Amino acid sequence: MAIHYILRAVIILLGILHKTEGAGHTWSYEGTNGPSFWKTNYPICNQQTQSPIDLPPIASMTYDSNLDPFTLHAFDKPGSMYNLTMLNNGHTVKVNVENGASVMVSGGGLAHSTYKVAQFHFHWGSNDTRGSEHTYNGLSYPMELHIVTYDSRYVSLGEAVDKNSGLAVLGFFFEINDDANCNYSPLVDAMTNVEYYGGNNFKMSGFKLRHLMPMMFGNYFRYDGSLTTPPCYESVQWTVFWQKIPISTAQMEKFRKLYTDSSKAHSISNNYRPVQALNDRTVTTNMKLPETTSSSSELFSNISALVFVSVFTIFKRWF
Ligand SMILES: [Zn+2]
Repeated sequence: MAIHYILRAVIILLGILHKTEGAGHTWSYEGTNGPSFWKTNYPICNQQTQSPIDLPPIASMTYDSNLDPFTLHAFDKPGSMYNLTMLNNGHTVKVNVENGASVMVSGGGLAHSTYKVAQFHFHWGSNDTRGSEHTYNGLSYPMELHIVTYDSRYVSLGEAVDKNSGLAVLGFFFEINDDANCNYSPLVDAMTNVEYYGGNNFKMSGFKLRHLMPMMFGNYFRYDGSLTTPPCYESVQWTVFWQKIPISTAQMEKFRKLYTDSSKAHSISNNYRPVQALNDRTVTTNMKLPETTSSSSELFSNISALVFVSVFTIFKRWF
């Protein structure tokens, strides 16, 4: 009887280990553990619906009227309400959300009704010309934010991570701005507490999740894909937003001053996976392009109005 229980415990433990990121194998973004070798230890990374992808131009995407606006739940509460813990995991800076509270997203045409926020993290480049995981029409951005959420019907991220549509990740591109983004200052300043992998974690008590996102976030792309790190489970409904987050070059530099080691020999940067083949997937959007004919006739009527006003003004001056 006792052996039966021990065996069960071992099987459960093996299951947990199997799902744990890394699961005993090291992986990285360069060299012999780099993205093209992930498939050796993580065969799912070699499957057909992987992420990230190069998003095609809006004009060639499919419009989907089911992609309604997102609703955010409790994003405006301070971090102390849901225990935000920042850490350096050697691959990125990640902030875990202890979600006994109901920090959730709904709407957005997601497969199930509510998705709980589990963590957020970033992917960035060694300079401002690269760093995002997704690209748009071949264009890279300096950084990409991922807010990782899981179907609230599961008890945890770990439970949902390999289930069909178990996860919904919200992705945001950054763009360089002359001024610092004040909303990001508390986060960027806190990163000095997690400078290297294996060091301290840091509680972000005052930070609000809403401050991560741009003011407007109504326009987005949707496709089915995967985790962008091993074990690359194909469980993610991806949302990549059209509205970008502004950030200054000085703020970007603070991300590049995070390290994989306490001796600070290796900084974390270019921690993005190259784009994967779209294969037979479709990227949909809730953005509707105006039809060419109506926009050209609108343009014509605008020009006519302008000519009329100009002529009228000249006429008035002369007479
Ligand atoms: Zn990510």
